[in-house]
Amino acid sequence: EIYLASEDMLPAAPSEIPQEMFGFSALPEYRQVRQMADQLAELGLPNPYFQVLDGPTSATAVVEGKEVINFAGYNYLGLAEHEEVKQAAIKAIEELGVSTSGSRLISGERAIHRELESELARFLGVQSSMLMSGGHAANETTIGHLLRTGDLILHDSMAHSSIITGANLSGARRRPYPHNDWRELDEILHDIRKDYRRVLIVAEGVYGMEGDVCPLPQLIEIRNRHKTWLMVNEAHSLGTLGKSGRGVREHFNIDASDVDIWIGTLSKALGSAGGYVAGSHDLIDYLKHTASGFVYSAGLSPPATAAAMASLKLLEENPGWINKLQQNAELVRDLAKKAGLNIGASELSPIVPIIVGDSMMTMILAQKLLADGVNARPLTYPAVEESAARLRLFVNAHHTKDQIRQTINKLAALWSKLQRENHAGTS
Ligand code: PMP
Repeated sequence: EIYLASEDMLPAAPSEIPQEMFGFSALPEYRQVRQMADQLAELGLPNPYFQVLDGPTSATAVVEGKEVINFAGYNYLGLAEHEEVKQAAIKAIEELGVSTSGSRLISGERAIHRELESELARFLGVQSSMLMSGGHAANETTIGHLLRTGDLILHDSMAHSSIITGANLSGARRRPYPHNDWRELDEILHDIRKDYRRVLIVAEGVYGMEGDVCPLPQLIEIRNRHKTWLMVNEAHSLGTLGKSGRGVREHFNIDASDVDIWIGTLSKALGSAGGYVAGSHDLIDYLKHTASGFVYSAGLSPPATAAAMASLKLLEENPGWINKLQQNAELVRDLAKKAGLNIGASELSPIVPIIVGDSMMTMILAQKLLADGVNARPLTYPAVEESAARLRLFVNAHHTKDQIRQTINKLAALWSKLQRENHAGTS
């Protein structure tokens, strides 16, 4: 029997509880989102988010029905639409279906999970690895699970949102250190290490907003001296840094076991979907049996797993692609600098920001560039500080020199026109 309370049996809600406490339309945080959309509409600009893209996206893409040069995706090596990768995913679907339909512990374990985990561990030079449903989940779950009240998490100020979410989830004290400033990190630890039990330092191989690289040798030295854990998120460095794409470890020629926790994603250079945690047998065994985001989440889908496996094999067989990606990125940096554009601290990586310093100007620039045949997405407040609002270029191994030249020429022309208009408007 279903019990439904009649209205006269229930106490009336106090009338003084304001709308924003129970309605979404009055939520101040949501109002902020609407404000930006309204401002864009006033300027006659379409909302730059949730654009519909068609077909595979690599050096080019079809955006809202129009083919453009593409600098807006993580598919750095073009593996997401590589024939062998697609065929591997199709074969996995035919043999295993689309879903694992269960947690790995219960009924979601498949042989290809184990194969990919051991291949990833071998490639990364660690003892073991585990697949997660995404890079975001890998960061959030690992940090959220390993640390707790009484512990300390020190993360780079430019660390990905999933790292901050994981840190907040953990209950540990979270403290950012200034971007790539290992001296400041050392000083903080010198002052407060003794006040905490476990301490985790979190850095990234390549920073997604800035396109620069973490000072890994110094971080390892600090980790050793202060007896902390060190975690490195290789979302953007796997498959892009080092001669054979083994990431920041290869770039600095360090031993993988000097970093306690390696995190990565299958959704960027590997052209699939999913994430991983890699490190010692003990770490992975512990997380596999206890971490909520793994234990209580369905095993990675067969097509995503098989696609990543095929990509990893292709990556190892084709180091020339990584070299081409690195050359393309250098060309972008070189031409952008020569054109007087501000690329911030970008180095070595395929991420090149063009710093504009104003959210609205950045959106306008992205929109005009798209109309001119190039897709590059804006990064605006609150994702970055207002003064750091930027366009972000993701370079691809399959960009031609001509596509790169055209893009920088168009960008430089639009940027100086915008500045002139802005100047005329304010003077
Ligand atoms: N870390 C960084 C630095 C990222 O840029 C991203 C994706 N934008 C992630 C983690 C999350 O990876 P995934 O898309 O696999 O969840």
